[in-house]
Amino acid sequence: MDDNTCPICGFKKIEKQGMPKNDTTLITCPVCGEYVITYEAQHYEDVKDKIRENGWALSGLIRYSTDRGLERIVVRTDNIDDLLHNAIIPNADDIERKARYLQNEIRRRTHYFGESVSLNYSTNSSLAFARKGREFEALLNLLEESGIVEVGEQTLGGGFSIKLTAKGYSIDESDVLSHQVFIANWFAEEQEEVIKAVEEAVRNCGYEPMCIKDKKYPDTIMEKALGEIRKSKFVIINLTGMRPAVVYEAGFAGGIGKEFFYVQHESEKEDNKKKSFYTGHYQIQYYKDLDQLKEIVISTITARFPH
Ligand SMILES: [Zn+2]
Repeated sequence: MDDNTCPICGFKKIEKQGMPKNDTTLITCPVCGEYVITYEAQHYEDVKDKIRENGWALSGLIRYSTDRGLERIVVRTDNIDDLLHNAIIPNADDIERKARYLQNEIRRRTHYFGESVSLNYSTNSSLAFARKGREFEALLNLLEESGIVEVGEQTLGGGFSIKLTAKGYSIDESDVLSHQVFIANWFAEEQEEVIKAVEEAVRNCGYEPMCIKDKKYPDTIMEKALGEIRKSKFVIINLTGMRPAVVYEAGFAGGIGKEFFYVQHESEKEDNKKKSFYTGHYQIQYYKDLDQLKEIVISTITARFPH
């Protein structure tokens, strides 16, 4: 394989950087974004076949994560199937969902109504999870036919100038990202297993969990959290520890009309009574261990938010 070719999308001019101590490579690709891939994943025929078949899905997933500053994706032989089943990835033929992704990406790049943005068929197809430049072009045409964008002249370098109509400008991101579920949880080391259990349960239900675990930038973290709550389909609130940030997030979610449900460790039940903690007409579901927590999350999602 050409040394400067992206192993996922085949783009020719990428940056590669070997990671010391292990057999992995950090790749910066104009189409996919930034990811790490192991030596095995680049050379095993089985994995190469999967990438040949589903490179568009992986490329779109990596782009999505890179653009949003989510955890960097590592492509390995033992996680390739999980990556390809990520809830963010639309079905290959779900052109409606792909078109909504594209509309949302154009909106993310538009700072004011009337502004034109330039997208390139060869490097921006991953934004719409398009298989090829041709599919990207077809999705853009679909948006134009639906009265969502106006496509202008071709710009230098193979880009097209695209402008959102009033209808396209007022997109509801929570509708686009209907796979995202926000988890409000006290962030501390002792809670890591708890968060992992909830994330796993959410994934089992076909949704993608969003939990902000970053302990840096304390001033902007709440702002980021509130933005992600806004975009999520619903919110899971773990009241364990009764942290002010979590209670605040719960109030915010309720205030903007976002649906949510409460869970809390059983050991805090009596304490809630003493403090007469007010949860409105929402019941708190108490769990005694991680297995029970997963059960509660899965049964509540299945009953209230079937996919
Ligand atoms: Zn690539």
